[in-house]
Order: sequence, then C-alpha cells, then structure tokens
Amino acid sequence: MNVPVLNPSPETAPQPIDPLDHLADHLFHRMGSDGVYARTALYEDIVERLALLITRHRDAGTEVMRFPPVMSRAQLEKSGYLKSFPNLLGCVCGLHGTEREIQAAVSRFDAGGDWTRSLSAVDLVLSPAACYPVYPIAASRGALPKGGLRFDVAADCFRREPSRHLDRLQSFRMREYVCIGTPDDVSAFRERWIERAQGIAGDLGLDFWVDQASDPFFGRVGQMMAVTQKQQSLKFELLVPLRSEAQPTACMSFNYHREHFGATWGILDANGEPAHTGCVAFGMDRLAVALFHTHGIDVSAWPPAVRDGLGLAQHAAKADGGVSA
Ligand code: AMP
Ligand code: ZN
Repeated sequence: MNVPVLNPSPETAPQPIDPLDHLADHLFHRMGSDGVYARTALYEDIVERLALLITRHRDAGTEVMRFPPVMSRAQLEKSGYLKSFPNLLGCVCGLHGTEREIQAAVSRFDAGGDWTRSLSAVDLVLSPAACYPVYPIAASRGALPKGGLRFDVAADCFRREPSRHLDRLQSFRMREYVCIGTPDDVSAFRERWIERAQGIAGDLGLDFWVDQASDPFFGRVGQMMAVTQKQQSLKFELLVPLRSEAQPTACMSFNYHREHFGATWGILDANGEPAHTGCVAFGMDRLAVALFHTHGIDVSAWPPAVRDGLGLAQHAAKADGGVSA
C-alpha cells in the first residue's frame, strides 16, 4: 500500500491512476459527483451509433418502449428489489407539508443548517435497471400469445455505487431486449442472444469473453442468493478486460429470472403457467468507454471494420463528398 508522506490534505493527496483515467477529459465533463458526468459530443455520437447497431440486431416482432429515469416505487418494491439490492437504490424525496413547514426547511438551509431532514419519500424511485417497468405492462395485457412477447426497452438507470472509475457510474444508460414466455421461449432467446452479442462485441473489435456471473446481492443472505444464481446458471456476462484480465468489466449481461416476474405480476404463458422471463442488457456507457479505451480517442483511426459497423465509414465518405461502398 502507498502511504502518502506528508499527510497532505484530501484535495492535494495523489489519486491512484486508473487505466481508464486518460479518457476522462475527452469523454466527460465533471458535474461535482463521482460517477455522474456530462458527456461530450465525441462520446455521445458513439453511444448513439452503438444504439443503432443494437437496433439492427433486434428480433422481428419486438415491441419498442422507452422509459423515463424514474419508475413507480410500489412496482419496484413488489419486484423484490429491496431483498436484493437495497444498498444501490435511489429514492425520490420531496418537501411535503404546509407552506410553513416547507419554509422552515428552506430557512434552516439559509441559516447554514440541514434542510434535507425535512424530506420524505414520494412514490417514485430512480430506475435501477431498464426492464422492471415492462413486466406489469405485459401483465395488463392478459395471457401471453404462443411464442411469448419480446420487448426492446431502455432507460437512464441509477445505482448508488459512487466510484472514480469511468466504467462504474451512478447514472448510466441501459438498453435491454426482454423475452416473456415459456421456459423454452426464454432459454432459446437467451442462447440466441449470448451468440449474437458475441458477434456484436467482435464487430466492435473488443477483446471479450462470456462467463457465468452472479449479481452483487446485499448482505449475508445475498451471498447465498448469489451462490444459487450461479448454481442455476441464471446470469452470464460479456466481460471486457479494460483494466486487467483479473478484473474485467461486464459490458453486457444475459439474465434468466425463471418465473420470478411472471409469478409476481400474474403473467401466464400460452399454457396457463406462470410466465418465465429473461433479458439481455447492454451497458451503453460501458460499451462506449470500452470502445474508446480499446481503439483510442481518435475515431478516424479506429479499425475500418469497426468504423463500418458503427456507420462511421459512410459518414466520412459523405462528409468528403465521396460515395460510400
Ligand atoms: P446488470 O443488471 O447488473 O447485469 O447490469 C446490466 C448492464 O448495465 C451491465 O452489464 C453493465 O454493462 C451496465 N452497468 C451496470 N452497472 C453499471 C455501472 N455502475 N456503471 C455503468 N454501467 C453499468
Ligand atoms: Zn433486465
């Protein structure tokens, strides 16, 4: 361990250099909180191109929904989130009460005190993953058709895991394909996506491998949940060695929830059984960071096949007045 010599103040203390730090000034503007960044045009253009690439691989018959960054607190509670990741959840709070009570909180702030003592929770939480709101919507439509349903969802997600690492954000974009159907529908969906996603990562020129994984469930009971999740092969991740092979970054995940959401929301499959569900999640920000880390910040120097896959080759040809191949 490095111990700073002269006990410098926190502002002047040397920060350990992370291998991704060199990207920060090109991709982000700091906003005063670790893991929450404004994005540059260079970065955002790649995120948009990634989104288009993922859209091109969408199964026919998939219904598109885009969710806001907040969702119903009651729905997330009912989904069991507090049993799994209570430590990561962000809840929307507001100042409630009479004008006098609210004014008292503001006055306390004006006097240098703590106004946040007067906050209380509203009926919203910050969405911790893009797919949670889709299950109650699917449930409201009655029994599933044969073959089940597929959705394409996305949301700005929040997880309270502040970090200085650029691949661990508190506010990040998640895109997901979701399958709701029989166990066979969902298994086939997940198998197909594990293959297809590796094709996408290969097209992007990333080093990667796919491995079994478990979620960081909270607490001691959570550790047991993680063991069960692995034993039942419920989660796989596409890992990219940004920092090292020993500490790879999960850029996509392939999740099988069995009948959890089907039973919670009363979704029945075409056979009248509780529906099974699964999702493939793309961490849009992690994928973009992985691209810049792998290929550098000069997008014009990225490998031609990668540029082609992201539609950058045509873009340059058009900008030059040329004709794209
Ligand atoms: P998960 O539900 O944990 O499997 O997350 C789905 C995907 O979201 C992951 O594979 C990551 O690519 C991305 N993701 C999860 N947490 C973060 C985070 N803190 N910062 C950026 N991306 C994340
Ligand atoms: Zn999901």
